[in-house]
Amino acid sequence: DTLISQIAAGEVVERPSAVVKELLENAVDAGATQIDIRLENGGIKRIAVSDNGCGIAPDQLQLALTRHATSKIASLNDLENVSTLGFRGEALASIASVAEVTLQSRTSEQPHAWQIRGNDPSKTLTPCSGVKGTAVDVHELYANTPARRKFLKSEQTEYGHCAEIVRRIALARPGIRFTLMHNGKVTAQYQADNLSQRCNQILGEAFSQSLLPVDLAAGEDSDRLSLTGFIGLPTASRTRGDMQYFYVNGRFVRDRLLTHAVRAAYEDVLHGNRYPVYLLYLKLEPSRVDVNVHPAKIEVRFRDSRAIHQFIYHSISRILARPME
Ligand code: ADP
Ligand code: MG
Repeated sequence: DTLISQIAAGEVVERPSAVVKELLENAVDAGATQIDIRLENGGIKRIAVSDNGCGIAPDQLQLALTRHATSKIASLNDLENVSTLGFRGEALASIASVAEVTLQSRTSEQPHAWQIRGNDPSKTLTPCSGVKGTAVDVHELYANTPARRKFLKSEQTEYGHCAEIVRRIALARPGIRFTLMHNGKVTAQYQADNLSQRCNQILGEAFSQSLLPVDLAAGEDSDRLSLTGFIGLPTASRTRGDMQYFYVNGRFVRDRLLTHAVRAAYEDVLHGNRYPVYLLYLKLEPSRVDVNVHPAKIEVRFRDSRAIHQFIYHSISRILARPME
């Protein structure tokens, strides 16, 4: 079972940034307004994420480390309407199978926090001090699976991937304050604010102010689609060729259909700016999109992909055509 769970864990936890992603998503799902991330040696030695969210009740702490234990969906029907970032109930269990994990949490009902260790076979709960919220400490990733550890890149490269995950999530949750530390130093700090301030904080003020705002909606009530965010013009794009952020219902995705729709609009209106900068937020009924395609959930599948493609293509085309009129 240990071997099988380590192999399965590889799918979800392929490198430190994948751990950061899962822990941040859990903190977001818990309603946190403040999230602190501490990394050591690019996350390989240590990844500690603490939040001020709802916490985990003591009788749920052991369960949280168990595979397929999720508090987020109760039935297949819920799967159709999932609104949380997590729902598979496998991230914490996977991480605990390839690293030393300590989970500490306190709900508002508890007079103090409780702690549990992933590698403790009896899963004993220990009382400890701690404020409301959850702290997950992940030590020595892949210490017991040297083959995987060998595939990790340099500390700086792994740190870079982790920092990018923090940016991705921070760009979708401007109301949450994030602090990122690496080897004892604060490397990024994003104050809670609105989306355009968050863009200023992450992309730089001069740059984000050159972007065109997007705010479009189509359809009625339950069929409603909306696309908001910012897109870059070619001149600005040239300075930051690496920034394409697309979110579907608050979840960062990298999807061929969406990417194609945006690029096609740029090509048709501006004739060939191949790597436009964009930060786009698509919202639609959860039942119109399947987020259960990939373990790391970066790919999605739409029920009506043609309609989605057209909506995005026309929205972006219209905005790009405007300054030229
Ligand atoms: P999933 O997010 O898919 O439900 P995880 O393995 O990531 O699965 O987490 C298991 C469960 O542990 C979650 O369903 C949630 O109940 C609880 N949990 C994990 N992290 C947190 C957190 N930071 N705050 C509150 N609850 C948490
Ligand atoms: Mg999760």
